[in-house]
Amino acid sequence: MKTKQIMYRRYVDLLPQEKRFYTINQEYLELNECNKCEEIESTYDLYWDCDYNLKGWTCLCKECYEEEGGEPFEN
Ligand SMILES: [Zn+2]
Repeated sequence: MKTKQIMYRRYVDLLPQEKRFYTINQEYLELNECNKCEEIESTYDLYWDCDYNLKGWTCLCKECYEEEGGEPFEN
C-alpha cells in the first residue's frame, strides 16, 4: 500500500486494510489527522498548538487553521 492512498482522506472513510496500514505506519510515515476535519496529512504540513494559537484545537490543517482564525504565537 502507498502512503498517498490514505493522504487527505478521513480515517473513518478508510477501508479496513487502509486503517490498519495507517495505524501501523502513522508514526513512521509521520502522518497525523487534523483535529477538526479529520483529514490525514503530513505532520509537518499541520499547524500545531505549540507553535500557533489554534483556539483550543491541538492540530489543524491549513484550511481549518484559516477557518478558525489561528495565528502564530508572538515572541
Ligand atoms: Zn482540517
